[in-house]
Amino acid sequence: MRTLLICAVILNSFVTSFSQNKPPTESAMDRFLRYVKIDTQSAEDQPAPPSTKKQLDLARLLESELKALGVRDVRISEWGIVYGMVPGNLPDNSAVPTIGFIAHMDTSPAVSGANVTAIIHKNYQGGDIVLPNDKTQIITVAQNPDLKNLIGDDIITADGTTLLGSDDKSGCAEIMTMIDTLMQNPQIKHGNIAIAFTPDEEVGGGIDKFDIKGWGAKFAYTVDGEQLGDISNETWSARTATVTFRGKSTHPGTAKGIMVNSSYAAGDFLAQFPKTVKNRPETTEGRVGFIHPYVGNLDVETSTVKILLRDFDITGLAGQEAAIKKVIAKTQKKYPNVKIEYASVLGYLNMKEVLKNYPQLTDYAIEAAKRSGVTAELRPIRGGTDGSRLTAAGLPTPNLFTGGHNFHGKLEFNSRKGLQKSTETLVNLVQIWAEKKE
Ligand SMILES: [Zn+2]
Repeated sequence: MRTLLICAVILNSFVTSFSQNKPPTESAMDRFLRYVKIDTQSAEDQPAPPSTKKQLDLARLLESELKALGVRDVRISEWGIVYGMVPGNLPDNSAVPTIGFIAHMDTSPAVSGANVTAIIHKNYQGGDIVLPNDKTQIITVAQNPDLKNLIGDDIITADGTTLLGSDDKSGCAEIMTMIDTLMQNPQIKHGNIAIAFTPDEEVGGGIDKFDIKGWGAKFAYTVDGEQLGDISNETWSARTATVTFRGKSTHPGTAKGIMVNSSYAAGDFLAQFPKTVKNRPETTEGRVGFIHPYVGNLDVETSTVKILLRDFDITGLAGQEAAIKKVIAKTQKKYPNVKIEYASVLGYLNMKEVLKNYPQLTDYAIEAAKRSGVTAELRPIRGGTDGSRLTAAGLPTPNLFTGGHNFHGKLEFNSRKGLQKSTETLVNLVQIWAEKKE
């Protein structure tokens, strides 16, 4: 918060230099308000991306808008990924690395993204914001201290019944407005820019089908972060575990001595977590990892519990698996007739392991933010991004802020300045790459 107070002061001095540019044909705010109306909620456990066909509604809109802006090689892949290329305007574009920008189109399965009604709280004057269609949904200053830096700004929220979809339609709108700004201002020099909008970031499958080679970027940025100034080159290392409880089902009327109800074992297993597992999402912050049982299914015959394992250090995941297996062993002892199975898959790895070799990616981003009047700092993400997977697959990809807050919930918000300053940072970033050349 301290840094943001400073940046609010610096901000004004930079407005003049940036405003010498011709404005984009449409503001990031107007684009954003159009994109959030499209329901793009993704779904867990689907065989292939896009997990929901409705994400293609936004893909097709972005495709046509990219074409209208004059972006080259625009296409939607069979997996629902939108690709495009903004050619550089340098005498020799090959002298500067091709830089990629990625935002995801889907919204979280956690909260509905259908019929989003964006509310604009014009010229915010401080205080808590009560969302009009569910008055129990309140964005409080106590829980959102950044609100103090948004006095006078236009704050955008949902109406209390849905999420807003700032995650990550802010990123989509900012990348589109960056392209628009560059097209209006040929005096802004930049190399080739690769563009992509991906489905299924929230459920983790969309990026698996990403055509890194065909896209052509040497380095990339996901534009999927939160409040102004937050830049991340570090994410969780992540595993997802599934614990399966196998009992025996039979007609309840004739079940005596036969039925083994697996749901009791599953319930008992879960009940042990608050007592025996110290590091859970609700008890940790900063760099401390956690174990998080987050979804499950109760049935007489078979019950399952899915558990997220998260740590910045890959070796921490092994310790977490051991902790879960301990709880399983205890449960198994109590319910000898229920068969308990454990399985886990690796989700993604902390991208810092690779990005530490390319410090210029975040250095330039911090400089780009500074030129936009935003004081940036590196903050590890207590989550994963598509960049984690891309980095692991050979395309170094840190994450940039979008101005958004409270992702995956009804209290999500962004602001006009949040969208604007994030867009300016992207425009400055491609210029810096053209200046530095490597
Ligand atoms: Zn996101």
